[in-house]
Amino acid sequence: MVDITREIVTLKRQLGSRLCVMGHHYQHDSVVQHCDITGDSLELARRVADVQAEHIVFCGVWFMGESAALLAGPGQQVHLPNPDADCLMSRMSPASLARLVLEQLAEAGYPAVPLAYVNTDVALKAVVGEYGGAVCTSANAKTMLRWALRQGERVLFLPDRHLGDNTATQLGIDQTERHVLRVGAHGLVQAKNQPLNRRLLLWPGCCAIHARLSLEDVEGARAAYPGCRIVVHPECREEVVSCCDAAGSTSFLIKEAERVAAEVPGSTLVIGTENNLVKRLATRYAKQCRIVPLAHAICGNMAKVTEKRLWQALGAVVEGTATPVVVDENLRQPARLALTRMLTACGQ
Ligand code: SF4
Repeated sequence: MVDITREIVTLKRQLGSRLCVMGHHYQHDSVVQHCDITGDSLELARRVADVQAEHIVFCGVWFMGESAALLAGPGQQVHLPNPDADCLMSRMSPASLARLVLEQLAEAGYPAVPLAYVNTDVALKAVVGEYGGAVCTSANAKTMLRWALRQGERVLFLPDRHLGDNTATQLGIDQTERHVLRVGAHGLVQAKNQPLNRRLLLWPGCCAIHARLSLEDVEGARAAYPGCRIVVHPECREEVVSCCDAAGSTSFLIKEAERVAAEVPGSTLVIGTENNLVKRLATRYAKQCRIVPLAHAICGNMAKVTEKRLWQALGAVVEGTATPVVVDENLRQPARLALTRMLTACGQ
């Protein structure tokens, strides 16, 4: 039987500095062990520009590979071990529909600056760039929403309504200033009956993995682990976030585990996010504290990237048969603009 782990080590050695393997924190440990760089969406996007390798093999879902290809330098190729690994949330705001809604808003006298979560495809990022907007991640959503509100009278945040909602709460934007749009196949549904004049319009999308975490899960954790601390990702629903002890990006959750392990040994930290990350943190800090997942939360698409798929992708790179991620040249400039506006606004 083939020892895939050893094969990958051999292939990586063969490619040497021509290769960089990047991976998202939600990847399984069997994949993460081979990554040269791991991070959340923001860290990985930021690091792509510094990578000199000719081949970037990106262990993550489709939009991440596309974003990497967008930021990659000339002559660099980005490969996805499994191009079928897609983020369902990233498909909830198709570019053509988002454009139509932006046009309808402008025609109705309520133009909006689009602010798109990085979990979107390049076509959507291009529309956002074209309409003067930017991209954001869960780590910088607060900074970027403040930025977007300075660019115009109102902001269209898409596609994750929960991240938009939670960020608005952090900025003190009242519920009466927010509205979750009703959108159908032909754009706004009954536009005249919607309060489109509000400062923050939220696209009705979400991450099914985080949105399914519930108040009952929080209550169950408090009962099972008296005195525990509960932290969740801001893609969770606002009612869940509001009854937890803190919420923040993937990087925040990792730092929180590190902090609790160092400062409150023997305590229990409950984390509401993708379970691969929670399990890794539980193993890392097992001697200092107990870390448990808030509830079952596995992203089936992230799980499509396996060690075997990574091995096959590296083999294809060595053989010269790998198919890199290709970004439509017409979309490159406006999409890059949306991403670079974020990097500039956040001083990165
Ligand atoms: S966890 Fe949610 S946002 Fe992240 S890739 Fe999976 S579906 Fe998309």
